[in-house]
Amino acid sequence: MSIPPCDVLVVGTGAAGLTAALIAADRGASVLMLTKGHAPDSSSWHAQGGIAGAIGDDDTAALHAVDTERAGRDLCRPSAVRILVEEGPARVRELITLGVPFDPELSLEGGHSRRRVSSVEGAATGWAVTSLLGRRALRSERIATIEATAVLSLLVVDGRCIGVLTPEGPVTARATILAMGGAAALWARTTNPAGQIGDAVAIAVTAGAAVADMEFMQFHPTVLEGSRLLLTEALRGEGATLLDSSGERFVDELAPRDEVARALVRKGRAFLDLRSIDRSRFPGLMAEIEKSGFDPAVQPIPVSPAAHYTIGGIVTDLHGRTDIGGLYAAGECAATGVHGANRLASNSLLECLVFGRRAALAALDEPPLPASLRDVVPEEPAPPERIAPESLREQVWCDAGVVRDPADLTELAASPDPVASLVARFALARAESRGVHYRIDAPVPDPAFEGHFVLRPGRGLALEHWT
Ligand SMILES: Cc1cc2nc3c(=O)[nH]c(=O)nc-3n(C[C@H](O)[C@H](O)[C@H](O)COP(=O)(O)OP(=O)(O)OC[C@H]3O[C@@H](n4cnc5c(N)ncnc54)[C@H](O)[C@@H]3O)c2cc1C
Repeated sequence: MSIPPCDVLVVGTGAAGLTAALIAADRGASVLMLTKGHAPDSSSWHAQGGIAGAIGDDDTAALHAVDTERAGRDLCRPSAVRILVEEGPARVRELITLGVPFDPELSLEGGHSRRRVSSVEGAATGWAVTSLLGRRALRSERIATIEATAVLSLLVVDGRCIGVLTPEGPVTARATILAMGGAAALWARTTNPAGQIGDAVAIAVTAGAAVADMEFMQFHPTVLEGSRLLLTEALRGEGATLLDSSGERFVDELAPRDEVARALVRKGRAFLDLRSIDRSRFPGLMAEIEKSGFDPAVQPIPVSPAAHYTIGGIVTDLHGRTDIGGLYAAGECAATGVHGANRLASNSLLECLVFGRRAALAALDEPPLPASLRDVVPEEPAPPERIAPESLREQVWCDAGVVRDPADLTELAASPDPVASLVARFALARAESRGVHYRIDAPVPDPAFEGHFVLRPGRGLALEHWT
């Protein structure tokens, strides 16, 4: 099968990809969306608690910025935060106009000083948003979607990205937007769908793009033991408490995620007590918990941390542009610096809406491809599809988990998997503890590391200061 060229090629059909595709198509571009799975294989589909955005009467963008920067531990890129919080409310209101059935009350989540999270049925936000955007994409005459087709590498000619290679052959485009999500499924314990193993970083590094912040994997503290089922932070915002094996509280439930996750690891076993929660606020999630064999009205639920959100990724400017001409990245696979060393809860769906839109608008300015490049025959064969066997995922969980030991990281750095190895190399370079990255040999932040580690082609890892 040969796939015809398009104006804008979007890889990934989560919130960032759908946002970018709809914006580009609305402005007259022909768009092709490619995904290696199907709609439910994105993290966006599973997102629960909601979308942050200062739309409440007692809230402002400035307050949202303060909370975002406090969570990010002196590492958020101020210009990116400003864009997120200032453009965010308009993006949330657009979803309201499109008909996303947000709950009447805003939710409170850890690290937020105000109720500012818009949710659907308490914990069905991701599904509600992506299915609505997905239906709009399906109805658009300018958007074609091909599922179950993995992108294996980027096509770069004379420094310009002209498309991608898939098992079906090359696909060329004026602009390529990677919206391929994160890498958390590279860890054995994860909340992410199985395919989210960091393919975007793997193909971008191979093609010569810069990557940053790969040491920062956010672990979600409350994931049902032995499963991928996340018990949203909004439950703790509504009063759910964390108990140890003796039934005693041991941590401020609304502290930032990294603090709560480490407190859980120190305790060994912990339980989320949902007995005081109004079940009608979270109907779908309560049903899922019951399906897993627990009755939230009767017993506290065993929980433990799991890899959840990839802060690092492909370096972009504030318009999604990467170091490679014609190549853009948005959403979880991009590193804009907006989250610093720790992402504030519910800022990531917002990131997809804000930066997905910006990437699409910038991509529309790319010049058309010369005819000679539209039907290019790649010089190299496509590499095989990347996979993450259980043994690799176990190793990443053990060597680069919530609490990190440099001896384990040194072993992981030798991994043949490019993303696992990058995580370890970045985590070794950051010889301090900051936000989600915790080293047992250097347990406090060190002002010498106030910057973003960046790997640029032909250079070693270097600390950069982003404004
Ligand atoms: C259980 C859960 C709950 C969450 N809850 C919240 C929340 O309440 N609020 C919030 O803000 N955030 C939440 N998050 C985080 C948030 O959902 C994600 O950060 C965000 O949805 C990422 O969107 P994305 O579009 O960047 O990537 P994704 O939605 O993950 O989409 C990635 C896409 O890329 C495709 N892809 C990947 N590799 C390839 C390849 N090689 N070839 C082709 N296609 C590929 C995938 O198939 C998928 O379509 C949650 C995440 C999870 C897992």
